[in-house]
Formats: sequence, C-alpha cells, structure tokens
Amino acid sequence: MKKAKLVAALVGALCVAGSTGAFAQKVYWTTSGMFGPFDIRGLIPALPVEKSRQITIPVSMWIIDHPKGLVVFDTGNNVAIGENCKAYWAPGNCDFLKPSQKREDVIDMQLQKLGYSADKVKVLVSSHSHLDHIGNIEMFPKAIHVIQKKELYQAWWPEKFQGRTSPGSFVMADIDNAREFNYLELNGDYDLFGDGSVMIYSTPGHTIGHQSMKVKLASGQVIIIAQDAIWMQENLDGYPAGLNYSVKDYTDSVNRLKMMRDLEGTELFMAHDGEQFKAKGSRWYK
Ligand SMILES: [Zn+2]
Repeated sequence: MKKAKLVAALVGALCVAGSTGAFAQKVYWTTSGMFGPFDIRGLIPALPVEKSRQITIPVSMWIIDHPKGLVVFDTGNNVAIGENCKAYWAPGNCDFLKPSQKREDVIDMQLQKLGYSADKVKVLVSSHSHLDHIGNIEMFPKAIHVIQKKELYQAWWPEKFQGRTSPGSFVMADIDNAREFNYLELNGDYDLFGDGSVMIYSTPGHTIGHQSMKVKLASGQVIIIAQDAIWMQENLDGYPAGLNYSVKDYTDSVNRLKMMRDLEGTELFMAHDGEQFKAKGSRWYK
C-alpha cells in the first residue's frame, strides 16, 4: 500500500513536471536571409588556399516554443538591410557579406509565418551584439532580454580594434533605442526556466560575452545551438574564425561545445554553415 502510494506520487510528480515545461515543445531554425557568395577565406583566413571555396551562408535565428513562454534566440540583420544596406551598415560590410535579406526573412515576419507574433515573445536571448545577431532587438520592447553583462558593455563600447564606429561589426543603431529594455544580465551559465530545458552557456571568445544555448525536447533530442561560438564546419575542423575578441577564449569555447556534443551524443548547430542549414534548416525540431 505504502509502495503503491509512493509510485502514484512519483507518477503524479512526473506528470506535473511534464505539464509545467521540463522540455521545449518545439524549436524552429530559420535565417535572416543569406550572406554571400564570397570566399570562405574572407572569414577564416587561417584556411589554406587549397581549401578556398565560395560560400553562401545563413544568418541563423531560432524560435523556441516552450510551455513557460516563447523564446527567440537572435534576431538577425536589421530590417533596413533589405531596403538599402549601405544606408544602414558600413558599405564595406554590405560589399563583403552581400546580404540577401527580404522583408519576409526578418524575425517578426518569420514569427508570423509560424503562427506567432513578435509581441508575444517572452524571452529574447542574444548570443552577442554583432550586426547579424542583435539587429532587431528593438522589435521586442516587452520581452525579457537575456545577454551576458560583459556583452552589454561591449555592445555600447567595443574595443577599438573591433571598430567603435560604423566600419565595425557593432552597429549602434541596432541598440540605441533599447537602453531602457529589461535585461537579465548574466555572468556565466544560466538555466532559463529553472528546469534544465533551456540552458544558456557562456562561450566567450568571438566576442567578450558570447553565449550559446542547449534545448531539451520532449522526444529526448538535445539541440546545442552554438551560434557564433562556431561559425561552420571548418572551425570544427580546427581552423579558427578570423574575428575574435580572444582567440584563447574562442578555442576554449569551441572545445567546450564539442565535448558537450560528444558527451551527450547529440548534434551541434552552427550559425553560418551553408551545408548544415541546407540539410537541416527551415524546419521544426520536436
Ligand atoms: Zn554571425
């Protein structure tokens, strides 16, 4: 009798855990248009000439439908890029990256296409504050914005070698009207809903406060979303990205994510890998 009661209590507890969101319902991988084509060595100069190739790459954004609230991880390029890139970004960035963003590629329209609206987004997580990741946070004034505290400082005052003015990868116009938003300012890893279903991991190096995400789905699938901690396959193969705040921290973060992937036997999704997105993007994970 006692044992039966205990079992019933355990089953009850598990049901409660399930219904209150120990897992994300579903996750969608999309892109804010594409970049390219351009020579991969423009991004990864360490790559030997014989591995040079033309690449067209996604600008990854993720939508996480969770019982405790709708989450967006990165907001792509600013909406203005589709209209007149050079009026918004430094011309050199437009010429090199060749963004092909259409209005329907922008995060608000992507949400609409999937049956959501931007004002229903509860949590906006930004991996970092570069122009192709934080571009549309101003579309989410009501959300809780989750970002590393150091990254907020860097967004407003990047190191000079990364460009403080328009030629760099930090665009002040992306964030200038977002100063009064609600920021959950992190100093390291964070369990977003307190149940292990959406974990934020500090993965610095690309920028001073870059962060990645791990999502657990009800099916048991675990998704590790590296974003710019690992741009593409060549970085996994050991060729470092050509844009780093700290190469040492970058290398530590790549290794951390790779080991996490191997220990958990799961897949690592990269922000700018054309082949991976072609095979696995524009779809739901459940
Ligand atoms: Zn990026």
